[in-house]
Amino acid sequence: MQLFAENSYIFEAATKVISIAVDEKGTYLVLDRTVFYPQGGGQPSDVGTIKCRDIVLDLTSVRKDGEIIKHYIGGKYTEILTGEDCLCALDGVARTLHMRYHSAGHLLSNVAESICNGIVATKAHCFPNEAYVEFTGTGTCERDAATDAMKMAIEANLPIAIFETNCEDFEKRFYKLPYPMPPKEILRTVQIGNYKPIPCGGTHLASTIEIGNFEVTKIKNKNGNLRISFAVV
Ligand SMILES: [Zn+2]
Repeated sequence: MQLFAENSYIFEAATKVISIAVDEKGTYLVLDRTVFYPQGGGQPSDVGTIKCRDIVLDLTSVRKDGEIIKHYIGGKYTEILTGEDCLCALDGVARTLHMRYHSAGHLLSNVAESICNGIVATKAHCFPNEAYVEFTGTGTCERDAATDAMKMAIEANLPIAIFETNCEDFEKRFYKLPYPMPPKEILRTVQIGNYKPIPCGGTHLASTIEIGNFEVTKIKNKNGNLRISFAVV
């Protein structure tokens, strides 16, 4: 069970070890329920600890492999047993920062599309200190105008809603997705205020006010590709 997908504010939960295995990245646990977000969708992996009895394992990274979430651990692991009850606890400071960056990336996509004519967001990378959103199109965007519009949208305390739909329903209600999807496949979708929604499996804040201080740090336009870099501080 992926608790982070149901509620991104759950930072700690009881769990059970389903399996322990090794691959080329190291030793990993598979858990029956997890609070840890696996790296993907432009958002970094969570870090934290998995405590089993008096053994505390450092979680170094989390990766998704098909439907399996692999929790890579450092330190001792040989004493951990399959079926054992454990407690997973993520680093809440790091996760909160990731959620602020990730949610800011969504909002920046929406805001820049609305104030800078003729651009459409295509990609976001929301790792702290290296975050950007890329747009395609012929339009340009001015740094101070983008920052000011973002600050207004943040202060407007817009709700960040999550809902489920499918490709067929999504395209009927909103817009044609830029990638092919099976029509009935469930899409977890995020929508900020009345801006256009987008399918996303990441962890989001509940409202834009939680993004806090925001700044556009750089705008680069190259070969019809506009990159807006940003920071939350
Ligand atoms: Zn997202």
